[in-house]
Amino acid sequence: MSIEKRYGMVIDLRHCLGCGACEAACSQANGAPEKLWRQVKDLGILPHSDGLRLTIPISCMHCEEPACQSVCPTGATHQEDGIVSVDPNRCIGCGYCILACPYRARVIYRSEMDFDRAPARARGPETGERVGTCTKCDFCSKRVSDGEKAGLVPGEDAAATPACVVNCSAQAIVFGDLNDPQSKISRLIATHHTVRLAEEKGTRPRIYYIVDCCESFTKGIDHAIANQ
Ligand code: SF4
Ligand code: SF4
Repeated sequence: MSIEKRYGMVIDLRHCLGCGACEAACSQANGAPEKLWRQVKDLGILPHSDGLRLTIPISCMHCEEPACQSVCPTGATHQEDGIVSVDPNRCIGCGYCILACPYRARVIYRSEMDFDRAPARARGPETGERVGTCTKCDFCSKRVSDGEKAGLVPGEDAAATPACVVNCSAQAIVFGDLNDPQSKISRLIATHHTVRLAEEKGTRPRIYYIVDCCESFTKGIDHAIANQ
């Protein structure tokens, strides 16, 4: 019996340079306007941190208990292998999920004009189909599933791994199967102190951050999300 996959991400904030390469890669790979699905926030110099400047990439957290899914009236928002996705053919654009998501990870493209903010190369025929529907990061699910079908291992083989991970200049992002105790991501979580954002919401994000300065970090990031 095969064990179900449960994909997740670890982002090591000790290595993040704040360069924005992951934002650009996301935009190029998914035809999304830059910074819409993925944003690198600059939290500035944190108090009590010996001058540490912290930058943090934020996207959909692919929650185990997604607030967006429970309010979706059509079943457009769904999960498979730990990836939370939106089916544009079932989404009616009601926006309930946008209000429900504590991480402000979702957006509805209201017109074709929205895509003018995306790089020309990124605009594919499928982008028009998304107008009026909700979109967000989907962990590059097509790359992942196509890679699996080709016998590749997501998180190890670049062609089967989300574009932000592959293009991170500092190799600060790790993707993989949280259900596999031998995967790199599982070993990182087992051996490092990690935090997840807004844990008090009970959404149980599948994105884990490695940090050195927990208290300052969580205060700073709450502020960053509230002001994005
Ligand atoms: Fe849903 Fe928001 Fe969680 Fe993503 S971060 S799964 S959009 S609740
Ligand atoms: Fe579901 Fe679409 Fe409504 Fe969001 S906007 S709750 S995905 S139908």
